[in-house]
Amino acid sequence: MSEFLNKTSVETKCVQAGYTPQNGEPRELPIYQSTTFKYDSSDDMGALFDLEAEGYFYTRLQNPTNDAVASKICALEGGVAAMLTSSGQAANFYAVFNICEAGDHFIASSSIYGGTYNLFGVTMKKMGIECTFVDQTLPAEELEKYFKPNTKAVFGETITNPTVTVFDFEKFAGLAHAHGVPLIVDNTFATPVNCRPFEWGADIVTHSTTKYMDGHAVGVGGAIVDSGNFDWDAYGEKFHGLTTPDESYHGLTYTKKFGKGAYITKANVQLMRDFGAIQSPQNAFYLNVGLESLAVRMRQHCENAQKVAEYLSQHEKVAWVHYCGLEQDPYHELAKKYLPKGSCGVLSFGVKGGRDSAIRFMDHLKLAAIVTHVADAKTCLLHPASHTHRQLTDEQLMEAGVSPDLIRFSVGLEAAEDIIEDLRQALEQI
Ligand SMILES: *Cc1c(COP(=O)(O)O)cnc(C)c1O
Repeated sequence: MSEFLNKTSVETKCVQAGYTPQNGEPRELPIYQSTTFKYDSSDDMGALFDLEAEGYFYTRLQNPTNDAVASKICALEGGVAAMLTSSGQAANFYAVFNICEAGDHFIASSSIYGGTYNLFGVTMKKMGIECTFVDQTLPAEELEKYFKPNTKAVFGETITNPTVTVFDFEKFAGLAHAHGVPLIVDNTFATPVNCRPFEWGADIVTHSTTKYMDGHAVGVGGAIVDSGNFDWDAYGEKFHGLTTPDESYHGLTYTKKFGKGAYITKANVQLMRDFGAIQSPQNAFYLNVGLESLAVRMRQHCENAQKVAEYLSQHEKVAWVHYCGLEQDPYHELAKKYLPKGSCGVLSFGVKGGRDSAIRFMDHLKLAAIVTHVADAKTCLLHPASHTHRQLTDEQLMEAGVSPDLIRFSVGLEAAEDIIEDLRQALEQI
């Protein structure tokens, strides 16, 4: 990226970072629809496999379209290296598994996306990695007690899907660093337009690009960005996967060979090589189109959501509303600190009369659609207890902060007045 572009605002980077055509090259990012890349000699190819030379050889490991989009996201977050994955799930899995192995432990806020909760609590447990879920509102002295000698990371979400709580970065970064482990933050809902976790002490950022980054519900994808700030060598024993020789690359040591690029390089050449959750270049192209308008869209999502939240909070049939933009919201203070430009377009609320009223209300909406999605241009909603979180017990639901009447409402880019009119007529039916 040119020095000029490097210093520009997030709005400009959304449009221009990642791909800079040279004289006579295509203005738009080309889709390198090729699984493989040609070399003139056997030695040229060999050097790539030894990680001695940089270049493309197989799209499972790297592709120029994907790299351009990853470097745009890297620039937006202010990181040193980034990679795309096939989904947000793959991003969160790689982000943790890159530094944890059987016998290790990590800590995650219990207020996280249901899919991540399952991944950490059930699937990774089968791999011998233990996750302790913690109540993120506990004071640091209480949270301290969950760290163990084999703890390797702390994980949280900037704004939780679906409970829309706000993560206290400074509290968790302080704790993680005091224990010599990195803080990994899923920044999906805020996007780097509204929050850059690295500025608050996070070390690794993940994204489900499926949401606002794509913005139009066209492609599932994920991303991982490294701040380059965590000193793996300072805790070399703990992070031996990065700081000692990798047998699968003839004894190469990532931190020695790649410096600040060690974490992403390992995730790419080892985890991506072995698990293969790559994003297709075609989807990366769509993602790039979405990113170009991200800053403009986030502004509008937030403005609309604020109006909708205010409307709902004054409605007699609405039991409660969670939106950190509301002054009375318990997370308003944290939002003012960490999300001064706005949070996101997602809010949650409950209607009076519980589960039955919620279903009746949802079935009468005309503009807002019931879909298993969130954070795109079209207003949509979901009832986690009967949809995304249905595999969780009531106890687990409450632990994840999801009450049975909770409706997750994703405010789109339609006119706020029309969204509110839709809500008004559907609420009349209960
Ligand atoms: C959707 C989501 C995920 C999972 O991402 P996919 O792209 O659906 O795999 C992870 N974290 C958050 C916060 C999400 O909203």
